[in-house]
Formats: sequence, C-alpha cells, structure tokens
Amino acid sequence: MDATEDPRIRNVVIVGGGTAGWMAAAALVQHFRGAPLTITVVESSEIGTIGVGEATIPTIRRFYAQLGMSDAEVMQATQATCKLGIRFQDWTRPGSDFIHPFGLYGQDLRGIGFHNYWMRLREDGDQTPLAAFSLGASLAQAGRFTLPSRNPPSSLSVFDWALHLDASLFAQHLRKYAEAGGCLRIDAKVRKVELRADDGFIRGLVLEDGREIEGDLFIDCTGFRALLIGETLGSGYEDWGDWLPCDAAFAVQSENAPDTDPPAFTRVTARSAGWQWGIPLRHRAGNGLVFSSRHMTDDQALDELMPRLMGRPITEPRRIAFRPGRRRETWVRNCVSLGLSAGFLEPLESTSIALIENGIERLKQLFPDRHCAQPVIDEFNDQSAREMERVRDFIILHYKLNGRDEPFWRECRDRPIPDALARKVALWKARGQFVRYRWEMFHPASWLAIYDGFELWPDAVDPAVADLDPAALARSLGEMKTAVARTVAETPTHAQFLAALDRSLAA
Ligand code: FAD
Repeated sequence: MDATEDPRIRNVVIVGGGTAGWMAAAALVQHFRGAPLTITVVESSEIGTIGVGEATIPTIRRFYAQLGMSDAEVMQATQATCKLGIRFQDWTRPGSDFIHPFGLYGQDLRGIGFHNYWMRLREDGDQTPLAAFSLGASLAQAGRFTLPSRNPPSSLSVFDWALHLDASLFAQHLRKYAEAGGCLRIDAKVRKVELRADDGFIRGLVLEDGREIEGDLFIDCTGFRALLIGETLGSGYEDWGDWLPCDAAFAVQSENAPDTDPPAFTRVTARSAGWQWGIPLRHRAGNGLVFSSRHMTDDQALDELMPRLMGRPITEPRRIAFRPGRRRETWVRNCVSLGLSAGFLEPLESTSIALIENGIERLKQLFPDRHCAQPVIDEFNDQSAREMERVRDFIILHYKLNGRDEPFWRECRDRPIPDALARKVALWKARGQFVRYRWEMFHPASWLAIYDGFELWPDAVDPAVADLDPAALARSLGEMKTAVARTVAETPTHAQFLAALDRSLAA
C-alpha cells in the first residue's frame, strides 16, 4: 500500500451466512453506522448452514440489545422459549438430576461464600439441597418463569435467563437488520481465495460464476470448512480429542411433547457413550445425541436417541461429525475467523454462540487498519485461545466427575485433565475456593453448580464458619429458603409467561 493512502478499512467481506456470519454482519453494521465502510456477506444457499445451535446463555440478550432489539422482538422472530439453566440428568449416576442455573446461590455473609454456611449445616445432618437457595434453579425445577427484578433486593433474588431459539430464524432476523443497515449480500459459492503476492494478505474471492470480490478485511464464517483461515491461510487446528472424546452428533427436530408445558431449561441427559439434548421451542423441539464414535456405532446412537425424543420426529436425523478443538491462530494477516471455523466445543453448556459474541466484541475493540498490525492480531489470538481453553476445561469437568459405569464414562473419569483445571479442582477440594482466570466465561456460581451437582464437596468448611452456632445458622438459612420458595410460589408458570407475552405482542 502506498504510504500516502488512507490506511482505514473501507471494505469488510464476511464469508458465510450462518449464525456467525449474520451475527458479525449485524454487529458491524451497528458499530460502524455512518462510517464509510462497506460490509458484504457472501453465502451459498446451495451449501447451506449447519442448522443447529438453539440453546444459548444470557449473554445473547446483551448481544441483541446492543442492536436495539428487545427480548420480545427476538422471541417472536425466533419462536423462542425462556431458559433458566441446564438440567443434567443421569450424569452423577443413573437417576441423578440437577440444574445448572444462570444465577446465584444464597447470600454470602461477612465476605464468606454462601456454600460454606450451607456445608456447615450439612455437617450437622441438614439435607436441604443447595438448589433450594437458588431462585434460578428453583424456578426452573418448578416450571415457572418471570423476568428478574431490575433492582434485586438481595443476591437471593439474582438470576438471569437466556433463550432457546430457532437458529435459522435468528440468522434471518439478523440478516434483515444488517441488510436494512446497508449490508450487501451475495448468494454464491466461493471457488477460490486469492492472496497478494507481496505480503500474503487475502486480496479477494473468486466466485463460481466468475465474479471477483475484493476486500480489506475478511471474516471467515464458513463453518467447519474454514475455507479462508484454514484451507487458504494454513492456520492449523489444535485437537482436544484426548480430553473430550465425543466426535459426532445426530440432530433431529420433533414436535413438542403433547400436553406438557415447555420446560424453561435445556435438558441434557447422559447416555451410554455420550449425552442427549432436548430443547423446547414454540413451534417444535430440537433433539440430538452427542457421542463418541469409538464407543458407539451410528445404529446404536440412533437406537438410543430416536425412542427418547421430546415428541414425534418431523425431520430425518442428520449426522454431524466434529473435532473438538480450536484454530491455532483465529486471526491471520487480514482474516479473522468466527464461529465453527475458529473452533468447536460440544454444546453441553451452550457456549458456541456466546464465543461468537465475544469474538465479535473483541474484533470491534481491536478493529485494525489495512496493515493489520501484528500486536493487534496477537492480542486477539491470545484472548480467543485463553477464553476457549477456559470453556473447554469447564466442559471437561462434567466428564471427569461423572459417576456412571459404562466403559466410555469410566474412561472419561480416568483420563488426565489439563493442569489449569486440575489446579482448580484441587483448590476447591482442599479449601472450597474458586480460581478465576482472565477470559473466564463461567462465574464461580456455575462452577459451584457443577461441583455440587456431581457431589464433589470440599474436605472442610471455611474456618471462620466452623464454630458458628448451628441453631442460629439453621434459622438464617431457613429464612433464605422460605424466601426463595415464596417467590417461586408467586411466579407464573413458563407457559403462562409465554401466553402473556403473546397477548402483549398481539395487542
Ligand atoms: P455454519 O452454520 O456452518 O455456516 C457456514 C456458512 O458458510 C454457510 O452460510 C455456508 O453456506 C457458507 N459457506 C461455506 N463454504 C462456502 C463457500 N465455499 N462459498 C460460500 N459460502 C460458503 N451452539 C450453541 O450456542 N448452542 C447450541 O445448542 C449448539 N448446538 C450445537 C449442536 C451441534 C451438534 C453442533 C455441531 C453445533 C452446535 N452449536 C451450538 C454450534 C452452532 O451451531 C454454531 O456455533 C453456529 O451455528 C455457527 O455456525 P457457523 O455460522 O460458524 O457455521
């Protein structure tokens, strides 16, 4: 580039129109509103999208709020239901059942984590489950839903919520938004990616119909294929298969269960060599089985999945193979990857869309000029890598702590775990404390939910609570439990909440 030329980026090309591509397009249109910047999405309706990705975590609501979209608008556009957390069945052992809520447990007192008080009472034989002190978990269990208080009077009232949504409808909604804001869309297959001879930056794309599309910055949202970042620029893939053995899934849509209210949680049930998801939407349900192909044939997987759908199947089951892991460099020269092209972790904690949101946010913060300075790239890559490793470790924890007996699950228990995770678990066991690294997506309350759900408790309570008067403690925790139970009893059911939302949208 000539030294006198304006180095600012004028032309962003997003390749891929799945969830990642349209999220990126909508967010950049909003971010650069009024700036002389052209955003183009190239997608191929012939290739299509992966067509799954229905369970989210609460950050998605902040993502679309930044675009000026309300919860009601997005829920209506995507046939969404509300999600208070994830229900894990049969993981700790067959018959076990717990909820990982988006919310807190009890009230910390004197700067000491609530779980210490709860454990102190347990030592005296109190059997009250930890979930009884979590409004989010208790609402989910009771099938109730309401919007959280904007000014919660105490941490006892703190919970958050996310959506179960139709991913294709979500992408369509974002596309409408992006196109209304000036984003261009080209429906064509990319045949070739051309590099500049001098510096190896991407110069442009050659489409199947011969058209050439030039750009300053390219965003690879081509899904597992990773056409730009992987195939063209050669960024390798760090495979995490030694830690996370599942490598395939069957996905199938069904009707919702007849005559039952939609649950306000994602259901994830352990099966003999993997786990099954169930996601209620308004117009249908999403189902699937994530499994290890070394431990289970496709026929066995289908035999486990198909009789246990949320309702009658309405599509054929579709097999999706995957490799857990991440792109070694998610940004190379003038190409940033988002979504499946940047890496994949199984959807056990519904994290993929959240990783896309954070990748987009990071790109906005570090948005380069046409030189794409290496320190900017390095920072993006470092943050992306750390964040994904933290999520990976959280997911590994579920496998490590399982208490099932099949060979697959025994192997998962016996596998070594990453050092950073081993340190966290060891500290929790020894002292009931949480290690919090940078770029951690999951808060201590989430770690607590999983430790407690899998019945891994610290060896001793905090010394400052060890000698508290048990009767006074029982009274105090009893009041908290009653307050949670009272709020639950006063809350409408999830179905009533959705019906009220429909009425308000129709009015
Ligand atoms: P895709 O949807 O695959 O889109 C790729 C795009 O690139 C398409 O538009 C395609 O046409 C285009 N393309 C590819 N090659 C070319 C070419 N040569 N020319 C032009 N265009 C091209 N995430 C969650 O957050 N929650 C979940 O519950 C969840 N469940 C999942 C379950 C499974 C089994 C799997 C595999 C994933 C799940 N995910 C989930 C992840 C989620 O589906 C993805 O993160 C999300 O859909 C983003 O996908 P994407 O846009 O990166 O890729």
